[in-house]
Amino acid sequence: MGKQKTEQQWRETLSAEQFDVCRNKGTERPFTGKYTDCKTLGTYICACCGESLFDSETKYDSGSGWPSFWNTIDANNIKEITDESHGMKRVEVTCKSCGAHLGHVFEDGPQPTGLRYCINSVSMELKEK
Ligand code: FE
Repeated sequence: MGKQKTEQQWRETLSAEQFDVCRNKGTERPFTGKYTDCKTLGTYICACCGESLFDSETKYDSGSGWPSFWNTIDANNIKEITDESHGMKRVEVTCKSCGAHLGHVFEDGPQPTGLRYCINSVSMELKEK
């Protein structure tokens, strides 16, 4: 922690959609995000605080409509939280540094991890290699 801001500060620095997704745990509509089909090489960082989250090398086409990764850059940069909202039991993925909601992780991904990190495009910025 250390990259925390007040709700008002986040409102002033994020777009309305980013605020809804990152700070209020919203979800962008599938197949609308700017990174869903992106194949550019680079590092995906937190849109709120700049923490490194995912490497393009672990991005794959899951067909879900959201950017999907089979691993994180560093498990220490992510915090996973049990999410029982909307009548489902899921695992929420957040940025450990600033608490931003990123998406969810599911156990139907490809090897070697078998994981699918299903992440909102607006929660990330791509730093090209
Ligand atoms: Fe962050």
